[in-house]
Amino acid sequence: MSSPVAMQFPLSARSARTTDSPISWLMKLAVEDPEILSLAAGFVDTKTLPNDLTRGAINRLFDKGDDAKNALQYGLTAGLKDLRLALAARLEKQGIPDVDPDCIVISNGGQQGLYTITEVLCDVGDVVLVEDPTYFVYMDVLKSAGAHTLGINTDEEGVIPSALEERFEELHREGLRDRLRILYVMSYYANPKGSNMSTERRRQIYDIYQRELQRGTPFVLIEDASYRDLCLEGKDEPFLKSFDPENEFVFTTGTFSKAFAPGFRLGWSYMPPDLHRAMCRQKGNQDFGSSNMNQTILADLLRSGDYDTAAERFRDRYRAKRDALLAAMKEFWPSDVELVYPYGGLYVWAKLPGVNTDPGSDFFNACLEQKVIYVPGYYCFCDKTQDPKPVDTMRICYGVIDIDPMREAVRRMGAVIERFRKKR
Ligand code: PMP
Repeated sequence: MSSPVAMQFPLSARSARTTDSPISWLMKLAVEDPEILSLAAGFVDTKTLPNDLTRGAINRLFDKGDDAKNALQYGLTAGLKDLRLALAARLEKQGIPDVDPDCIVISNGGQQGLYTITEVLCDVGDVVLVEDPTYFVYMDVLKSAGAHTLGINTDEEGVIPSALEERFEELHREGLRDRLRILYVMSYYANPKGSNMSTERRRQIYDIYQRELQRGTPFVLIEDASYRDLCLEGKDEPFLKSFDPENEFVFTTGTFSKAFAPGFRLGWSYMPPDLHRAMCRQKGNQDFGSSNMNQTILADLLRSGDYDTAAERFRDRYRAKRDALLAAMKEFWPSDVELVYPYGGLYVWAKLPGVNTDPGSDFFNACLEQKVIYVPGYYCFCDKTQDPKPVDTMRICYGVIDIDPMREAVRRMGAVIERFRKKR
């Protein structure tokens, strides 16, 4: 019998727009060669993952006998009520007034929340404003939706107010303001830049958003607060959502991945009621609700204080890792490398003046020869970015790599940087 010919199934337009994540090849490199020291991987610290606390909560659940069975049943699309209540109480403690648990959606990671709200709001050709550089996986979602991404310049506090105003003016001038659907902002320790907004910056951005709302079609401010629980230094700044006390405008999303365990695949979002209804319809089509069992366990972890215990452990560990990373950079890298100091989160954003860090560049390949990889900044800039697009940046992640190999990776990279400097 002749071997079958592979079918060429026609894909949907959406599928055709959906490409592999640009950094999947980086992850593949690290998996295929265990000797590679990856400063690229965005995973969390494996050693700190809370086995003990998770086991305790699972035991408490199944010690309840038949009462545990609800956890094994289907649940509500919006998420387990008990978890939404525990989260609402937590968000109120963190400064958001009168949180309505019926306006919360629990999702499969924060990622599903971002994906679903984009599905709710965007058609092909719509416009989304993002801080630049931005979370590249969200850019993949926007690309898949067929949205145009326009970047807003950032400094170490994130979105620059005047740059945001300029983008709005540009949209009016170009007749695109009616297509604007989302302004996407990471309000704490952004991925990749590590930038963190001061209270004053938050206020400014919110006020500019409010003014712009009066000038045309309504659009949603998405506040991605995924790294809020990883504050390593300084005070907790208020959620942008806390400036929206009537819950009318802002969609705030967060995750239980970073300060507890990504393996639970649970995240949350809090939004105005009409968006909540639309989100639940979309999520219902996807999965009828996230894992009821994982949500039951997490609700216990939040109520018992074990979630906070885990978060504290992660913060201690990341503080030590961040400090070790910055110390190694100081020791092994030229002094004119520019770093954004991370007050929290998992990333250091570095600018290496005069060195092209793009994927496939000589510098990237030389690092790879030394078995060190990073995320080229190239991937983090959006469709319409700064002109010219920066070519000399990179994201370094101290999440999963241990301190000794991290130091060694920085040392090796330092030697490559020196070599490239001399060549110039
Ligand atoms: N937002 C940002 C900025 C992130 O960096 C991530 C994870 N890397 C997410 C959302 C989603 O994470 P998760 O799906 O694990 O909650």
